[in-house]
Order: sequence, then C-alpha cells, then structure tokens
Amino acid sequence: MINVGDSRLGIEERFDYIIAGAGAAGLSLVYHLHQAGLTDKRILLLDRAPKTANDRTWCFWEVGEGTFEPVVFRRWERLAFHGEDFSTVLEIAPYRYKMIRGGDFYRFMAQWLDAQPNIARAYAEVTGVETEGNEAVVRTNDGRAYHGAWAFNSILLDPLAQRPTYHYLLQHFLGWVIWTPACAFDPNVATLMDFRVDQADDTRFVYVLPFDAHTALVEYTVFSRELLPRSDYVRQLEAYINDRLRITDYETQHEEFGVIPMTDAPFPARRGARVINIGTAGGCTKPSTGYTFQRIQRRAQRIAQALKATGRPDVATPPLHKRYQLFDSALLNVLDEGRERGRRVFTDLFARNPPQRVFRFLDEDTTPTEDVQIMSSVNIPAFVAATADALRRRLAAPRSHPLSHTDSSTR
Ligand SMILES: Cc1cc2nc3c(=O)[nH]c(=O)nc-3n(C[C@H](O)[C@H](O)[C@H](O)COP(=O)(O)OP(=O)(O)OC[C@H]3O[C@@H](n4cnc5c(N)ncnc54)[C@H](O)[C@@H]3O)c2cc1C
Repeated sequence: MINVGDSRLGIEERFDYIIAGAGAAGLSLVYHLHQAGLTDKRILLLDRAPKTANDRTWCFWEVGEGTFEPVVFRRWERLAFHGEDFSTVLEIAPYRYKMIRGGDFYRFMAQWLDAQPNIARAYAEVTGVETEGNEAVVRTNDGRAYHGAWAFNSILLDPLAQRPTYHYLLQHFLGWVIWTPACAFDPNVATLMDFRVDQADDTRFVYVLPFDAHTALVEYTVFSRELLPRSDYVRQLEAYINDRLRITDYETQHEEFGVIPMTDAPFPARRGARVINIGTAGGCTKPSTGYTFQRIQRRAQRIAQALKATGRPDVATPPLHKRYQLFDSALLNVLDEGRERGRRVFTDLFARNPPQRVFRFLDEDTTPTEDVQIMSSVNIPAFVAATADALRRRLAAPRSHPLSHTDSSTR
C-alpha cells in the first residue's frame, strides 16, 4: 500500500480502477477485486478521511462463511421475534445471523491495504466522478483530477429528487451498547424484531443483539417519512430497557445513530460509460428492509468476476429478478399508504413462513412457488391494491420506467 504523492506512484499517472468512497462498498470492492485475481491492477481508493470511528454495525444473515468472516464479531442461530399477538424463537439454521462492527472492518481493511503494493489511498473531498471520453475522471476539492479506465462510485453526488412515482420512507434508528452487572442476556438468542413498542402511525421495533450475558446492542428503529427528535429515540430506548428488559442498572458504552433510505426510486447504476455506482448510491440498499451489506458483497463479487473474465464491469439483472422490485414497491406502498400496519405484515411473514423462506425471499433467491407462499401469508387485498397503485404510478409518470430500478444488477 502506498499513498498518492508517493514517488512510487505519481498522481499524474492513470489508474486501472478508481474507487470513490472507501466505506463498506468501496472497501469491499477493492477486496473482491483482489480475491478475483486482479492483483496487478493499479487502484486508487479515495475518501474524505481515513476511517477510524466505529461508526456503524452491520448485521445480516448468511449460510456458511462469507468473505469477511475473520471480522464477524458475533453469530446467532436463534432469533427471537415478537409481533402482534405472536412471539417465537426462530431456528434459522443453516443461516446464521452475523454482526460485523464497522471499526473492526475498517481496521482489518487498513491492515490489508498496507500490504498491497498496487493500491493507493488519497484523502480529499470528491467533487465529481464523471465519464470523459473513454475514461473516468475523479475530481477533488484540492484541485486534483484522477484518471482511470473505470471508476466505482459510492458517493451520493446528486440528491435523490422526490417524485410522486416512487415511495420515500426512511429507516432511522438509535442504538446503545449497554453493559449491566446482572446476567441479563442470553448470548445465544438475538432479538431480530420486537414490535411490543408503541407503533404511533408507522412501524417501530427494537433489536437486541447480545454480545455476552452482560452486554448487548439495543436499537430502537422506525420506518417513517420523517426523523424523530433525538429525545424521542432516547425516551423509547430507556423505556424498553427499563420496562421490557427490566434493566435499571446499566451503563451505555457506545451509541450509533443511522438513517437508511427505503425507497423504490431508481439509483442510477452508472454515470456515463466509465463510472459504475456501487453501495447505497448504486441501489444496493434493499428498499423494503434497508439491509445493504450482503447486497454490497454480492454486487462487488459480480463486478470483480466480470472484470476478471471480460475486462468490463458489466453485470446485468436477470429479467425474472425484476419482480422483486415490484414486491419492494408493494411493501413500501402498503406502509406509506397505511394499507396495513408494518407490525402486522412482519408478524404474518414470520408466523406463517419458515424463517429460511423469508430470508431467501428477502435475498431475492426464492422460486415462484415460494413467492406465492410468501404473498399468500400477508394481507392479500392490501398487497393487491398496493401493487396496482405502484404500477399505476409508474405508468402515469412521464418517461416512466415501470420496473427499471437500475440497469445493472444490485444483487
Ligand atoms: C448506522 C448504520 C447502521 C447500518 N446497519 C446495517 C446493517 O445492520 N445491515 C445492513 O445490511 N446495512 C446496514 N446499514 C446500511 C448500509 O449497509 C451502510 O450504510 C453501508 O455503510 C453502505 O455502504 P456504502 O459504501 O454505500 O456507504 P458508506 O459506508 O457510507 O461509504 C461511503 C464513503 O464515502 C465517503 N464520502 C462520502 N462523500 C464523500 C465526498 N464528497 N468525498 C469523499 N468521500 C466521501 C464517506 O466518508 C464514506 O467512507 C447501516 C447504515 C448505518 C448508517
């Protein structure tokens, strides 16, 4: 690993690949490129600053071992679910629900990058990532321009314009890692969703992810159009910890706050011929759940494999997979239009389907038969009306793209 400006790699030189934004997607992609065997490529990673803070926690389900298994902090095979008049512990094997802490991931990647002679890092505010002629050009606020055969961009350079065609919800949450002297948690069981909190007019639940018997990440999560005042998240977290977990003696060791877009509005897959968008900016966030981390991995792996095989990063969405975009829109429409309570929808899903089927559905890996089983487990009239409304909006919109979320696979 060398830094730009180092005489071994002058800034006037061209790169094979430039990666703008060295967060989850940018760092994952550079690792997958190497894993795919593209070890001789000259790569530049650009971010505004080195990653030092433990700024987020990624959770996801997975069968077997993943690319970043060495940094998985905790794994659970049993997940508690508390819905509307329904509580259970889901046995999710062969899946495991995994947690990666941002700080561990960034540290792992920084050490790995230190050992890579062809990968440079530079720190500046990126102001543009564009296709110019037959190359990609990335400009920064210190007046530099970096040239590459391809650029991969995870920076939201253009704010999403809100249009009536699409749905725009936010998933927002405040989480605390708490420590209590009592043996308060079962380290073998994580709580995926606990809806036993006031739902107000939207969808609200709490995660409890135990690290050990004394320590857990407790996260209060809301799906709605607007954020809440901070005091509301705090009040709800305190109430849940005191009243539901029955913990009064605790200290807060860490806090995380996050906002994830839950929208079916298209995130452009490219910026011209030579720039590929990745991460949340490339549409990798699942609109109906906010889960992103595994979709980032799948997409990065496919880009790397395509580059290795053909020299081009093109990955296409198989046509049948586009049905999942309609399923996502339908759920967003149900929630946004209040056709059914989110708590009821998720309760129906987990009460009437094995969790493995729900995970496959959310991973967009189900068979048509499984799709029908999932669809028939929820409020059918509400979802039929929502699907019709989602389609009607797209067809009514000028230059509408009925199902074209991106032109490149986000899977
Ligand atoms: C607190 C939190 C918790 C989350 N938990 C989960 C979870 O449990 N599971 C899950 O699947 N998803 C989760 N997500 C969603 C998603 O996985 C993350 O947001 C993920 O980090 C997205 O990756 P990314 O690379 O697109 O964006 P980021 O990781 O945010 O990376 C973007 C990078 O671009 C840099 N950058 C931005 N603008 C500029 C600029 N102008 N110039 C230079 N650099 C710039 C930033 O510094 C950053 O490093 C969570 C998100 C948050 C915020």
